[in-house]
Amino acid sequence: MLFACGMSDTILQPSPLQTHYDAILQGIGEALRTLPGTRLPPTLVAASKTQPASLIEEAIALGITHFGENRIQDMLSKWPGLKERHPEVRLHLIGPLQSNKAADAVRFCDVIETIDRERIADAIASESVKQGKRPACLIQVNTGEEPQKAGVAPRDTETMLRYATGNAGLNVIGLMCIPPSHQHPAPHFALLRTLAEELGLATLSMGMSGDYKEAIRMGATHIRLGTALFGERH
Ligand SMILES: *Cc1c(COP(=O)(O)O)cnc(C)c1O
Repeated sequence: MLFACGMSDTILQPSPLQTHYDAILQGIGEALRTLPGTRLPPTLVAASKTQPASLIEEAIALGITHFGENRIQDMLSKWPGLKERHPEVRLHLIGPLQSNKAADAVRFCDVIETIDRERIADAIASESVKQGKRPACLIQVNTGEEPQKAGVAPRDTETMLRYATGNAGLNVIGLMCIPPSHQHPAPHFALLRTLAEELGLATLSMGMSGDYKEAIRMGATHIRLGTALFGERH
């Protein structure tokens, strides 16, 4: 007998993670339907900061393959084991990077989304050569020009791109932004998209739990979702 001892209810109940994931897939579908033509769905990057490895395992079992961590320290505590068990998984660094952590970033990350200084570009570049591994990179743009926030000012994006691809030789595939928390995100997404178009970059990492549908409508190719998928962080 498959469901013995009156446990069928608990067994058949979808997990909170499954329920959240289904809602996100539905939200992505809704956003895509408002766009003309057919568009590929954006890549869902599960922002797994503060989440335990067990919950990440559960997300991988649902078919999620891209994850984002903010801190190298947290990455080192969870990801060496997870990556060994799930070599198909792609790990993104979505938080600020210090140049003395560049070796770990290159070792464990497939995508580094937060290039915003020459020093960081240089550190990633020299580690890439040392390790014979070339992660994809995004330039983080501080679209709201907030003094406390990481990222290059929009007007400095081209200079940073030239330096990162030319002098440092990085594989820069796109741009990333985190709009100011108390403004409507649409103008920031539009600005990032315009910059990427001008610079010939195809990847746009924008949109979080509260605004990912808007970001998809504005052309996001990657959305970074934490709370919408995992629930509130502790
Ligand atoms: C935490 C984080 C996210 C996800 O935020 P939610 O609002 O929980 O979806 C996305 N991007 C970055 C850079 C983050 O640090």
